Amino acid sequence: MLENLGQSLKEAIRKITKSSYIDKNIVQEVVRDIQRALLKSDVDVYLALDISKKVEERALNEKPPEGMSPRNYLVKIIYEELVSLIGKGKEINLKPHRIMLVGLYGHGKTTTAGKLARFYVRKGLNVHLIGCDVHRPAAMEQLEQIGKMINVPVFLIKGEKDPRKIAKTYLNESRGDAVEIFDTSGRDALDNDLINELKDMKEIIKPQEIYLVVDASIGQQAGKQAKAFHDAVGITGVILTKMDGTAKGGGALSAVAKTGAPIVFIGTGEHLENLEVFDPKRYISRLLGLGDLQTLMETVQEMNIDEKKAEQTAEKLLSGKFNLKDMYDIWEQFSRPGIMERIFNAIPTFSLPGGDKIDNDFIQQSEEKLKKYRTILDSMTYEELENPDIIKGTRIERIARGSGMKEEDVRELLKEYNKMLKAIKEMKGNRKMMRILRKQFGKNIPGLEEEDDGSQKNGNN
Ligand code: GDP
Ligand code: MG
Repeated sequence: MLENLGQSLKEAIRKITKSSYIDKNIVQEVVRDIQRALLKSDVDVYLALDISKKVEERALNEKPPEGMSPRNYLVKIIYEELVSLIGKGKEINLKPHRIMLVGLYGHGKTTTAGKLARFYVRKGLNVHLIGCDVHRPAAMEQLEQIGKMINVPVFLIKGEKDPRKIAKTYLNESRGDAVEIFDTSGRDALDNDLINELKDMKEIIKPQEIYLVVDASIGQQAGKQAKAFHDAVGITGVILTKMDGTAKGGGALSAVAKTGAPIVFIGTGEHLENLEVFDPKRYISRLLGLGDLQTLMETVQEMNIDEKKAEQTAEKLLSGKFNLKDMYDIWEQFSRPGIMERIFNAIPTFSLPGGDKIDNDFIQQSEEKLKKYRTILDSMTYEELENPDIIKGTRIERIARGSGMKEEDVRELLKEYNKMLKAIKEMKGNRKMMRILRKQFGKNIPGLEEEDDGSQKNGNN
């Protein structure tokens, strides 16, 4: 995995989830962060600039769909643009077919042949490995060993100097009921000798797939190689190997994607299980630390109803008629079973305003506390909820008894209410508070629109 790129991108996303609202400054800051991260990962300067420009334009001009906060929408834009940077991927053929692997020396062809074999075996398919690398002395033995490890038959003709003959001999006996993976010879460079050999092999094998195996640590150069191989022999996809050991993976991915050749698999280690089907969407989700973005979007949509309710509450709040019932409403929204957990799981980088990462303990504590408060509020009379000032002495005693809580719990709840009330009072003309509120309740609340025209103060009703 692209540790460094992922780290920087996650930090950029964290900045967004931590910011109280999305404005031009934060968009530009985040875009700069992403640009820097991409360049560090060897992404071409023009590609990096292009994507920055797109993110910025979209973030400043597009309106989030209803029910989605500007923050989540910015994350979504970044996600979409990064996905488009690394291509569409390619559907994996899960029927018997022929794969010819091509590539230069040492880029990982033979290892990848073994990884692919293991992959298709796991999918329940018959697999044959055919060793057509006649140039490297130990190539045949290497493939033989790999075959043994994963229990896959390997076809070889030891001592044969012509790879064409090996392929022909194998194909004479082929029943076409297996995924047939042909390992071919490399060279130090794509010279005429190699081109001619591969053209002949392609003619003989008639593969459905010709995958170029490229070491990702050459970064952007992987794009040039993909183009050269494509022009010379035609390729149907690229397998990027050694993604585990390079800081230049972003460059390799984006440069290959730009040539139009789909990236089909990525190799992420020396072991035969270190192969991943390349799925651009999931890959970027992971890099951004988003977990499953689909889940996130669904959760946000679901929250829509609650946001509407929150708007009403906020309106009340601004009109200065905020009471315990309204506080109850707010808590109710966030104490729905599992709602917090789901949001935080969907965005592992989701942060508290203070920047602390939310962990399970926090979620559990919050949910327990809210449950407790709710029980207390349930034991209050309507009059008390509307008019919290009257809750004193014997009323506290009664509420505690009625709810099965301690008196100090009731007092704690009242203290929280008073804290909130005080905050609301201070809010009059306090921009910072307005920002926090806008963060909590979104933009569509009267009195909470843009803050900087100076004409509006608190609420308009
Ligand atoms: P070939 O000459 O193209 O057939 O390359 P090989 O399959 O012999 O691989 C060359 C070297 O790269 C070997 O040491 C492999 O173990 C190593 N290698 C291949 N794929 C990966 C990968 O995804 N990650 C890492 N770390 N090493 C790999
Ligand atoms: Mg080899």
